Amino acid sequence: MWHGVWRPDWGQEKPQVRLEWRLLRRVFAYFLPYWSHALVVLACIGVTSVIGLVPAFVTQTLIDSALKPHASFSRLLLLIGALIGASLLGGLIGVLQSYFSNLISQGIMLDLRNQLFGRMLQQSVAFFTKTKTGDVMSRLSNDVNSVQSVVSDTIFSLVMNVIILATTVAYMVTRDWRLTVVALVVLPAFLLPARQVGGRTFEARKETQAKLSEMTSYMQEILGISGILLVKAFAKRAIEAVRFGKINSELKQLNIRQGMIGRWFFMLMNVLGTAGPAVLWLYGGYLVLSGSESVGIVVTFATVLLGRLYGPVGSLANLHVNVIGSLAIFQRLFEYLDMAVEITDKPGAKAITDVRGEVEFDGVTFMYGGKGRPALEEVSFRIEPGQLAALVGPSGAGKTTITNLLPRFYDPQQGRVMIDGQDIRDVTVESLERQVGMVFQDTFLFHSTVRENLLYARPDATQEEIEAATRAANIHEFIVSLPDGYETIVGERGHRLSGGEKQRMSIARVILKDPRILILDEATSNLDSESERLIQAALQPLFKGRTSIVIAHRLSTILAADLILVLDRGRLVEQGTHFELLRKEGRYARLYQQQFQGADVSLTG
Ligand code: ATP
Repeated sequence: MWHGVWRPDWGQEKPQVRLEWRLLRRVFAYFLPYWSHALVVLACIGVTSVIGLVPAFVTQTLIDSALKPHASFSRLLLLIGALIGASLLGGLIGVLQSYFSNLISQGIMLDLRNQLFGRMLQQSVAFFTKTKTGDVMSRLSNDVNSVQSVVSDTIFSLVMNVIILATTVAYMVTRDWRLTVVALVVLPAFLLPARQVGGRTFEARKETQAKLSEMTSYMQEILGISGILLVKAFAKRAIEAVRFGKINSELKQLNIRQGMIGRWFFMLMNVLGTAGPAVLWLYGGYLVLSGSESVGIVVTFATVLLGRLYGPVGSLANLHVNVIGSLAIFQRLFEYLDMAVEITDKPGAKAITDVRGEVEFDGVTFMYGGKGRPALEEVSFRIEPGQLAALVGPSGAGKTTITNLLPRFYDPQQGRVMIDGQDIRDVTVESLERQVGMVFQDTFLFHSTVRENLLYARPDATQEEIEAATRAANIHEFIVSLPDGYETIVGERGHRLSGGEKQRMSIARVILKDPRILILDEATSNLDSESERLIQAALQPLFKGRTSIVIAHRLSTILAADLILVLDRGRLVEQGTHFELLRKEGRYARLYQQQFQGADVSLTG
């Protein structure tokens, strides 16, 4: 086993990179589908490495035989032609090599992006409440983008440098082994500082990247519509500008540092790049003067071949840094790919179809995150197919939590949630999602046209079906009055629509989906009486023919309910119809008396 532990600087999180075969094998597996492209790249590298020796040959032949002692203009022309031809051919092959190398890196990036996005789509709601969006975005874009440099800067650069080195040394040995030994002896002096500076450049680059990702994530939060509304609502412009300024200037410092390390590196290379030839000139000069070597060979060694040694050796000296950095990138991506998906299909789970719509909670206890105070405790109730159930109770009582468990946004720790007597954990998640429709208080609309937002519920809906839904939801008239009608862009998250209009849009959307079970969170915001009337009228057809669970804030809904579920601190304290519960003179009756003296006001928190 090959083991080594390295701790890169990732800002706050510091994962360890373990160089294990398992990790290497997994990375390698991503390259496998592109093996034929890789062969082309390798062939290109081999050919260019040999072509790269032409200048050495030309220089030597020019000096030793074309200029003197048998000066020949035609040979001179021939050699110059060879020099230009070789460079042209090398360039053309280089283009081919870049193309195939790009095919490989972009192919791997495409696979990784698809895999990661697919994995994110599978993740539970809990995952997204715990994770910072900026972090997810950063992995999906920045980390995946870094894969390109893994392919070009690490893998092919390794192969290319090894081949260049091997061909150059082989060529040198055939010309003069003594000069070859001298050239190789000066290399370590060059190698050590290169390693040092290379390591620091890498560290600096990591820090810069971490800061950049912090900045992106910050901008994403503040410059989104919700963020900017918050900033304005609390008059925080100045403070946010200062916070941004701080991150920005830290980024500037880090960038300058990184640039300067690079500059030092460059300088070092320059100095050492002169020291090497100096030693070679000295020894080679001695050999020429003593008559045991030709001028052409010494000049070629000092001016051409030595350069061909330095470049690859400098890169290979930093290879470990690149390899570890590259593996770290893959490891970060694998961490996301390997994250357990909490809510997933059981082996052998079947799709749930032909649902009648009976909903039952049987002794359900649920804690967010699996610990702390239960959001629901021993909750049991049954809603018959086609019934309308109203959830009431003070704020934080657990109403939303009940509606979250039904589409399996979360799974309860104890008890069962059942549809038509079937535990919803035994059916496929996707088929369950098809059966349940939701209208949230805060309607989410895509930054797209009215039509596309509606079609999201059912992509194959015809214009007649769309209009039937929008008419039922009382929003058709409004849509056609918009400048572009159904083609009007609703703005990010639907901010161009009023609260009531957005809710009617989402009612139309759910009518198009036509689910057997409907979950509705009634708007608490004070809508004007016209908007209120339009929504009420839209809701009537919506409840028809399906089981509906409504977080009810309006008396009219509560009175219409077949079953009222009264919650308090996670417990179901009462259930029954309005009149049954009033007769009981318990919790519901008190809530009703306190809050509804004939007025249609909220029964909930
Ligand atoms: P409201 O009428 O104010 O919306 P609610 O009855 O819908 O309240 P829930 O949202 O179900 O109440 O919340 C029940 C409890 O669970 C509350 O104490 C709340 O703080 C907690 N809770 C809700 N969502 C989460 C979450 N994602 N993580 C942790 N705790 C949560």
